[in-house]
Amino acid sequence: MIEKTVAELAKALRAREISSVELTQAFLDRISRYKALNAFITVDANRSLAQARAADARLAKGEAGPLTGVPIAQKDIFCADGWRTTCGSKILSNFIAPYDATTIEKFNAAGAVVLGKTNMDEFAMGSSNETSFYGPVQNPWDVESVPGGSSGGSAAAVAARLAPAATGTDTGGSIRQPAALTNLTGLKPSYGRVSRYGMIAFASSLDQGGPMTRTAEDAALLLNVMAGFDPRDSTSLERPVPDYAATLDADIRGLRVGLPREYFGEGLNAEVARAIEAAIGEYKKLGAQVVEVELPNSKLAVPCYYVLAPAEASSNLSRFDGVRYGYRAPEYDDLIDMYSKTRAEGFGAEVKRRIMIGTYALSAGYYDAYYLKAQKLRRLIADDFTRAFEKCDVILGPTSPTTAFKRGAKTDDPVAMYLSDIYTISVNLAGLPGMSIPAGFDIKGLPIGLQLIGKYFDEARLLNVAHRYQQVTDWHDRVPPGFD
Ligand code: GLN
Repeated sequence: MIEKTVAELAKALRAREISSVELTQAFLDRISRYKALNAFITVDANRSLAQARAADARLAKGEAGPLTGVPIAQKDIFCADGWRTTCGSKILSNFIAPYDATTIEKFNAAGAVVLGKTNMDEFAMGSSNETSFYGPVQNPWDVESVPGGSSGGSAAAVAARLAPAATGTDTGGSIRQPAALTNLTGLKPSYGRVSRYGMIAFASSLDQGGPMTRTAEDAALLLNVMAGFDPRDSTSLERPVPDYAATLDADIRGLRVGLPREYFGEGLNAEVARAIEAAIGEYKKLGAQVVEVELPNSKLAVPCYYVLAPAEASSNLSRFDGVRYGYRAPEYDDLIDMYSKTRAEGFGAEVKRRIMIGTYALSAGYYDAYYLKAQKLRRLIADDFTRAFEKCDVILGPTSPTTAFKRGAKTDDPVAMYLSDIYTISVNLAGLPGMSIPAGFDIKGLPIGLQLIGKYFDEARLLNVAHRYQQVTDWHDRVPPGFD
């Protein structure tokens, strides 16, 4: 059963070939067997199995939806009622969420089972899952390498078949980059497509939740549940949700695929480049037409992001003060001392670095020089995409400049770490949908991800373009050795 996709599991559950309780138990067993991966922060078998029993009752009554009974691992950034929700931080190590995020609520309503809360970089700040207070996550393709981040636990869980699918969040690449490094399909929806309510905020104008799955078909099934307007999120858009599974098979002959010159230059690993070239060949065989496009400001995306994201984070993270919930320093003199000790002890080094950068960029004397300037750059970066999309329907390129790197390789060099997201970050700055799909392996057997970027709210097309590729390739079916 563990080898089946979400689509196949849903079918088996409806045909009553297996129960949700059996399925959930099988994945819980694998989670404890592969504990060394450190993919989960919290597992609560009783809660998961209670949900599975309820799903079985629904299935018995014939009231099942497409995901009823399917266990889904949830990134520990989503509040789930009664579940410990830590966001990878010590400061929330004792926080039991008193309500469900909209995403969790929607999965619950669909009858899916919360399989546990996955490990992540602290407050989703990172590209390697090494900033988690709960320890690093191993990449099942090479346990000494990182699974990417910040949704590294979700990535490792699905890649190692500890869960059929998971959620992630992506502020600058945190769904796509870990998907690329672990051979998964990951989709970051357009900004405003998926509710951020109950999803702990990192950089509110960039954060977006989305699915991490093995196939584009599964991503469509999850997005069908996650997408939609939410009055509780003022940035969610009131726009109809198409059935993303309905158009997966659409013909892509004549599709104009844009290749941004800037995504194939210096810094791109040669083996990654070769795999992307090969994928372009597959698309040509499927009838797509390749055009060259330009994204001239893309080199400014990383510096622009590292002003804006920390600025927003410094504001968002001011709520963690030890007063109403979360960790509080055990000893302090007065209120100010309590705040400062709580935050000094509760946050890790990367989070503190971001708060300092953000506070500096927003301070009265530097606001115009940094924050305002970065906002203007953001507009230019978004305009580049608008122009590029006059010439093409989707943009194609690498997701990450390299395959998975060894743990510790970039921890002393934040800028090297930040460059992991060089191809993904501009997509968040523009608010566009982006996807990573498996596209081959390097000589060491590590997965390579192909990125597809779409027009606003064109998730259906991205999923279609990804699905067509997956019909003629089998990269996405490969299982890490030892985990089959
Ligand atoms: N790696 C980027 C960062 O550290 C993006 C993280 C994310 O998308 N959450 O901020």
